[in-house]
Amino acid sequence: MKKILFVASECTPFYKSGGLADVIGSLPQYLNATKKCDVRVILPLYDGVEGLKEPFRNALKEEMIFQTQVGWRFQYTRILSLIHQGVTYYFVDNLQYFGRGGMYGYGDDGERFVFFSNAVIEFIYRGDFKPDVLHGHDWQAGAAVAICNIKKPVPGIQTVFTIHNIKYQGYLMYDAFDELLTIEREHFAGFEWNGMLNLMKAGLFHADKITTVSPTYAEEIKTPFYGEGLETILQMRSRDLLGIINGIDANDYNSMKDKNIHVNFKSSIPKKKENKLYLQEKLNLPVKEDIPVFAIITRMVEQKGLHLVMRIMEEFIQQDVQLVVLGNGEKEFENYFLMLQSKYPEKVHVTLGFNESFSREIYAGSDFFIMPSLFEPCGLSQLIALQYKSIPIVRETGGLKDTVQPYNEHTNEGTGLTFANYNAHELLDRLHYALFIYHNPSHYKHLIQNVAKVNNSWIQSANQYINIYRGESHE
Ligand code: ADP
Repeated sequence: MKKILFVASECTPFYKSGGLADVIGSLPQYLNATKKCDVRVILPLYDGVEGLKEPFRNALKEEMIFQTQVGWRFQYTRILSLIHQGVTYYFVDNLQYFGRGGMYGYGDDGERFVFFSNAVIEFIYRGDFKPDVLHGHDWQAGAAVAICNIKKPVPGIQTVFTIHNIKYQGYLMYDAFDELLTIEREHFAGFEWNGMLNLMKAGLFHADKITTVSPTYAEEIKTPFYGEGLETILQMRSRDLLGIINGIDANDYNSMKDKNIHVNFKSSIPKKKENKLYLQEKLNLPVKEDIPVFAIITRMVEQKGLHLVMRIMEEFIQQDVQLVVLGNGEKEFENYFLMLQSKYPEKVHVTLGFNESFSREIYAGSDFFIMPSLFEPCGLSQLIALQYKSIPIVRETGGLKDTVQPYNEHTNEGTGLTFANYNAHELLDRLHYALFIYHNPSHYKHLIQNVAKVNNSWIQSANQYINIYRGESHE
């Protein structure tokens, strides 16, 4: 049985800022269920508002305490563990780096995750769990992948690096190489990018295999538009780069069982409407079952295509529709949605914040889910929307292209509405088309039936990861 150590910065149900947490919180369970591998996960132990809560904190068991070398300094490191749903999770505790209240967004984030990476490698040296593969996720684990490949804390250990979003790369000043790392200077070039250290680049440079979270994104990131400056290294490494589509935890995001929603349902349109009426009432919107509800649940950043929404939503909102928004992020977008709400209180409801259970009520109560991303490595929100039969309206990019098939009204095939170009009027056209579909019972019923048949569970993708761990070629 292959032993795999996942290295990541967030994981449900402990902490989440986006889709990465969903993946790290569900893929190991599916991999372990195959009985072909023993996957364990190592994470920082965050403290404070976004930190680890009860009952998990109480379940922590101390594994070991040691000093992690960070350049010329030594930092206290305590490793704790707990077992959740058959998966062992290790946590790296150091209050100076992780006792901040939040997970990211600090001036020394680069240093925090270099420390984390150094601690992970030290843990492998000292612990009983000797992985065959270290699997790092996103830039926060880039240094762990690189150091693992250089130092080989277990003889023959292999490394896999997964890109969940290439936009965030983890830059540090170049002198951090001597200040924070403990590897020979000959390895400087592997970390250097444009005169700085780049932790994602270090992971890409060193990993034995590279994956990303959809086949389309795997192609896109080799081009300048999507590659965020790393396209040349990805072109060089393209033989070792594979796109594996994310699954979701279909037990958790399950409209038939989810306790967060008003009425459980499978594909019954009347029951779905009950969820909508409940949502409208809760949000003080006019309670009318034949008004279509459009939803947006997102981090409010440029990536999510919100500039397109800003360009056309006021025009679209003149129709007999409602818009429910949940998210937070950049002020430009938050202020826009607040403006829309104050101008159209009968039609628009906006909640600024992060709220897991409310998000599920919106998925269940909305008819359409708008996600016109500028780029989208995989996207989990559209997969969740499909689980709750909220029809996704997406731009054909990355994982959105791979997971939403455009509805064809002649063959009645397809699971959503899609458009190709980053153009606000293409989005507006699809929104109007959504109204046409919604008010045409035959098309709407076909779409809901198609969506109900979608299976985005992890099973197929888990097998692709196992092939990678076994060193099997994907060519
Ligand atoms: P990303 O990881 O880029 O943010 P994904 O679509 O892959 O985008 O995953 C986003 C995840 O975060 C989904 O599970 C989505 O439901 C959730 N999410 C995003 N914003 C919020 C919010 N404001 N409240 C609750 N959940 C949210």
